[in-house]
Amino acid sequence: MGEIIFQNTLTGRKEPFVPLRPGEVGIYACGPTVYDFAHIGNFRTFVFNDILRRFLRSRGFKVTQVMNFTDVDDRIIANAAAAGVGIREYTAKYIQAFLADRRTLNLEEPDKMVRATDHIEDMVALIERLTSRHHTYASDGSTYFRISTFPPYGRLSKLDASGIQAGARVDVDRYEKSDARDFALWKAPKPGEFFWETRIGPGRPGWHVECSTMAMKYLGDTLDIHTGGVDLTFPHHENEIAQSEAATGRPFARYWLHSEFLLVDSEKMSKSLGNFHTLRELLQQGHKPSSLRFLLASVPYRRQLNFTEDGLRQAAGSVERLRNFALRLRQGKFADGPPAMKERAAQAVAEFEAGLEDDLNTARALAAIFDLARDVHTAMDRGEFRWSDVAPVTAALEKFDAIFAVLTDDDAEKLRAMGLGGADRAPGDAEIEELLAARQAARQGRDFAAADRIRRQLADRGIVLEDTRGGGVHWKRK
Ligand SMILES: [Zn+2]
Repeated sequence: MGEIIFQNTLTGRKEPFVPLRPGEVGIYACGPTVYDFAHIGNFRTFVFNDILRRFLRSRGFKVTQVMNFTDVDDRIIANAAAAGVGIREYTAKYIQAFLADRRTLNLEEPDKMVRATDHIEDMVALIERLTSRHHTYASDGSTYFRISTFPPYGRLSKLDASGIQAGARVDVDRYEKSDARDFALWKAPKPGEFFWETRIGPGRPGWHVECSTMAMKYLGDTLDIHTGGVDLTFPHHENEIAQSEAATGRPFARYWLHSEFLLVDSEKMSKSLGNFHTLRELLQQGHKPSSLRFLLASVPYRRQLNFTEDGLRQAAGSVERLRNFALRLRQGKFADGPPAMKERAAQAVAEFEAGLEDDLNTARALAAIFDLARDVHTAMDRGEFRWSDVAPVTAALEKFDAIFAVLTDDDAEKLRAMGLGGADRAPGDAEIEELLAARQAARQGRDFAAADRIRRQLADRGIVLEDTRGGGVHWKRK
């Protein structure tokens, strides 16, 4: 296998990936701000994080992935107060929903999922450290980071001073600063607002200091990879670097991987345009979890992804084709003889790996598998596919699914787990096998009416049965 290459936002170049400690990778992923349900733009980034994690693990790395929940900010404080509940109670609902959404999309659990509000003491300690090194100043009870004390500022986002000024106005806050670029590490409470009483005064942490604190607490002063959506590059990640490096004097993150925007029908997603989708809404409209995962994974993370109905339907078709391919491999009858496709399968695996090595080029990796499927179908149709080919081709599919995770037909179960979807939806593999066993038993008991009923029920739900001469049965999805 070849070298892994990542496009590093920090250097602006494609670079070989070499972790700090051989065989181990520490990754920090900026997680959701839990004041609402996550939308598909968020999930694009989380699917990218999952592909990254699965790929590095498949290459033998011991991966430690840390993700945060931003469970305190202005909106959360205001919304919780309006709802008359504490912020932990207010955010718990959205954290639970986020975890359920993640399971629905087959996202593996990061090794640590940490809440900002569990780390207030650590954040205060980091701010004190910055103060002792003369990087801060206090104003009206808040503490600010003085950017003029950190000359490398701007290295990640490559914005010149004017860009930074413009960007700083986006980072709205109503406190007094001596330089527009400076940002709040600790914010004094407004009258009547929730706060923590701490050694640096009453208040709450700024968003940026949360991520620096938790990243370094769990992964050390220097981490291998920091990920996030491209919109976090400035000011969030720039500020994380400033705080972390000013406090430790060491490099903070070695590789910065940013996933591009998700557009909906070629426009930026926004509530006012009415093109704002949460995962739940799309599932309620009848889309399958596997189609969503496939679509989000299929476009390389550094490219913009244009999310459309049509794209979702195509994704559903692609998943169906691959599942039917896997079924044909499992159920087909092939001639004995020396393998005819073993080399072809090895070539597909090599190309699949080469695609992922190339800055996680998922489109290239997918093409390798679809090309293999096409060639294998052709060989099967011509009677040139052998029993001895099943194992190498299946192994190639397994390599694919270890990363893309769409082959297991559990969409129906997933929808039920989310409280969506009724019995009329397409059944999963396990349910089909159960119904087939029941039908077989009915036939053996010569209850042909019952056997027929099961066949009709399956047909209504999109499953076609084909009895074979030997008394067995094949099935496929319409
Ligand atoms: Zn962050």
